[in-house]
Amino acid sequence: MGRLIGLVAALIAGFAIFYSGSVTPGPAPADAPAADFSAGRAFADVQAMGAVPHPLGSPANAKVRDILVGRMQALGLKPQIQRGPAIEANGALISGGTVENVIGVLPGRDRTAPALAIMAHHDSVSGSPGAADDTTGVASALEVVRALKTHGQPARDVMIVITDGEEVGLLGAHVFFDSPLAAHVGYVINLETRGGGGRAIMFETAAHNGGDIALYRHTAMTPESNALTVFVYQNLPNDTDFTVAKQHGKVGLNYAFIGRQFDYHSPSSTPAALDIGSLQHMGQQVLPTAVALAFGPLPGRAPDVVYGNLLFGLTAAYPPWVGWLILAGCAALIGAGVVQARKRRAFSWIDAARGAGAGLYLIATSGAAFELVRRATGAGTGPFTGYRPLLARFPVFELMMLAAALAALFAASALISRTRSRWIAALAPLVCGTAACLFGGFDGLALGFGVAGAVIGVVAFGGPASLGGAWAGLLLLFLVISAPLHALAPTAAYVIVWPLAAACIGFAASLGGADVSLRGRTIQTLVAALALAWVGYLFHSLMVGLDMAALEILPTLMAAFVLWPLLMPETPDRAPLWPAGVLLAVSLGVAAFLHLTSPWTPRHPNNAEPIFVIDPAAHQAWRTSLTPLDGWTRGLLTAEGGAIKPQRFAFSADPLDAAPAAYEPVDPPAVTAVTGPDGKVTITVTPHAGAARIIVRLRSPTGIDGISVDGAQAIEQRRGRAPKPFALGPDQWGAVLWTAPDAMTMTLHTTDAAQLEVNATEIYDRWMSAKSLPATPPKEQMWSQAGSTYVVGSPKP
Ligand SMILES: [Zn+2]
Repeated sequence: MGRLIGLVAALIAGFAIFYSGSVTPGPAPADAPAADFSAGRAFADVQAMGAVPHPLGSPANAKVRDILVGRMQALGLKPQIQRGPAIEANGALISGGTVENVIGVLPGRDRTAPALAIMAHHDSVSGSPGAADDTTGVASALEVVRALKTHGQPARDVMIVITDGEEVGLLGAHVFFDSPLAAHVGYVINLETRGGGGRAIMFETAAHNGGDIALYRHTAMTPESNALTVFVYQNLPNDTDFTVAKQHGKVGLNYAFIGRQFDYHSPSSTPAALDIGSLQHMGQQVLPTAVALAFGPLPGRAPDVVYGNLLFGLTAAYPPWVGWLILAGCAALIGAGVVQARKRRAFSWIDAARGAGAGLYLIATSGAAFELVRRATGAGTGPFTGYRPLLARFPVFELMMLAAALAALFAASALISRTRSRWIAALAPLVCGTAACLFGGFDGLALGFGVAGAVIGVVAFGGPASLGGAWAGLLLLFLVISAPLHALAPTAAYVIVWPLAAACIGFAASLGGADVSLRGRTIQTLVAALALAWVGYLFHSLMVGLDMAALEILPTLMAAFVLWPLLMPETPDRAPLWPAGVLLAVSLGVAAFLHLTSPWTPRHPNNAEPIFVIDPAAHQAWRTSLTPLDGWTRGLLTAEGGAIKPQRFAFSADPLDAAPAAYEPVDPPAVTAVTGPDGKVTITVTPHAGAARIIVRLRSPTGIDGISVDGAQAIEQRRGRAPKPFALGPDQWGAVLWTAPDAMTMTLHTTDAAQLEVNATEIYDRWMSAKSLPATPPKEQMWSQAGSTYVVGSPKP
């Protein structure tokens, strides 16, 4: 079998295996056996509760609460509503409001045994129906408990805890875990979503998860979890209700799906847009684990393990010391391969050094290429703003990145086998890195990759290396790099170690690359196909999970480990450079397509966020927008004849583009500020009927501290840091976002109360202009606060 046939076969088979393992399962029908999880049944709940936006405090959310109570009654769970105020402090913002958690209990045989709590949240963000986030979690929880009941009475209580106000700041979870009810909870399963599709991932545990992972591996149907996700998530600022559970010392498993991220917090997150297979995957994965927890013992705490999905639904797990055995095995396999290669073909340690150089070159060059094409799309960052044009056409974007990865692989492997390649090797990354700066300004990362690639190109290339030497050098370099990585973070380093181990097996079994018979090529192709399927999963996960193009260096490098003998010819000067050129051109062509054509369609519409602003004290009104203007929003803003110009508003740190509109009489926000003799300031906010939210912005030249809301001290709880009292520095603006309808009293301290600035804004979820909003065109969607009215108060001294 020829090298090229092997290469094409490995790429196709690798993709096919990856793809078959990454699709969501078909939903089980509504008449599936009663003991099974059925997305067909659960979807009725999604339709009932996820049809319209239902943020905290809204009438729509009260309806969802009532539906939930009814559904829990039907399941025989004796639901109760847990009502109470809560606040959360984060950065310069304090969020708060009154929540209504809905809690049901399925009594177990031993009512005193620690309970299993299955959690999700019933509120959505403003403007989004939240069919995925988190109605899917709610529907999954209900269907899991229904199916669980077919096994008889559980050994312990099973609670369904559906929190409220998660989107405002995990408010319902704070109320629940601060209450005596939480003392009964021994284990938590939390169900979340961060998009409208994809397979559900068990992505978070508490520390010392050895027991949790053992339970998960032995029970979960179609498991989807790995130690890297748990490791990465620990280092991200994202939070779910599970964060609060962990802060209260609870343990458990946290699940979410993150595909179709365009729909995350979006008006487009409707039941029709939901991948029902994601609902099926979440439920069928959770159900057997929940049954084991409800009817059996809870797992104990045990040291963290290294684990991850292999292929074909298999999950591997082992304690970190086993990783050292794997690395030792890699070293032995490389040694065996080198001995064989030296017996049969040209092999020199200089070639090995060149191969190591080619590995470093691949890092720099693919990094420069990824930065270039990502920037060439012209899209910005931020999941709710600049990145949306790419989220709207995600598969095309992913194809672009894949072509760039392949271009870098072809370039590095061809250049290392050529006699006169030094200058082109140096120029290619430098040009990519420099060209990246043509889009959106100076790109230090891309330039750094470009310069590094150029230097490595000059040093490592220029004389043809032998295949055995170059492949051995590549593997040895990353074996040496893996050791300290494994010592520092074994639950992350396995991501490199596993494909490296696969490549080392291929290296030894094909005699250090020297075996180019049918046997040798078959081994290389098989190893490459299986490893690529796994690497493809990593590539896709990084694409979906994080908008950081340079991270794709990692899977590109791993693909090189196993593809090297199929990419690099044994004979010098045989590998053409045009495939790399064509692939880069394809990638840039896709980037140009993404840059130059409009991404917006009725399924993936552009965000519009027009709001109406009234200033009763000044008898003025404006139309403005909380997202950047497009043609339609411009027309909407100027519909009352006013021209658009930047305008400062009390609720916004920066001026907004606004056009004057006809004034509508309305009461200003009812906010009073009273200073006591000790410099303590008491601020009272009384929302008007119909007001959905109030924003109070605060600033003092001497800083503000000692803030409490309704008697609760504002504490900043940042992940990985000790909790500290919320405080604002001198002249720093802070804000309190309070969700009506209840009044709120806040006390704070500042040394110069006379200079304290307090600005209040009351938000109504309706358009209070006399001239009504026009119908939304199909390629626009009313995002978040769109269509609401902000009534600003006059600043209070
Ligand atoms: Zn959520």
